[in-house]
Amino acid sequence: MSVTTSSATVLSGHYGFAEIHKLPDVNHHLLVSTKSFNPEATICTFSAKEIHPLPSRYTVQVNETQHIILLPEFLQYINHSCNPNTFFNTTTMELIALRAIAPGDEFTFFYPSTEWFMAETFACNCGDHGCVGIIKGAKELATDVLNRYRLTDFIQRKLNERND
Ligand SMILES: [Zn+2]
Repeated sequence: MSVTTSSATVLSGHYGFAEIHKLPDVNHHLLVSTKSFNPEATICTFSAKEIHPLPSRYTVQVNETQHIILLPEFLQYINHSCNPNTFFNTTTMELIALRAIAPGDEFTFFYPSTEWFMAETFACNCGDHGCVGIIKGAKELATDVLNRYRLTDFIQRKLNERND
């Protein structure tokens, strides 16, 4: 999924494989690839800058009680999509390309693939034909919706428990 970047401000291009773009109308940032990645490629590894007991809009859930602030921090600008091109593997701590990614593509991930519950739900406007609509934690989404996505080991385990 390419984004139109002509109207966006490039805040920085010093991250090797990505640039942070800021849209002019709202305080909306996105992370745009500057390189090509093959499907299943490891885009980068990540770690926890901080660990929090509760989720916020900037954290990624890694297990029942731990929500991390990502390092490198610019990964926080990877937005949600219902047709994502990346996956945060919180077992191996690798950001994975779900399909081929080209320079200029916005990096996106499916928030419920890591989040069992979310601090804030929101209405998705991704425009994908399979758009989930109201984005909530995986806990509140139907199994047949979640089965369309790659999920972290943590979310998959929670889902299996729910469905037992
Ligand atoms: Zn959507």
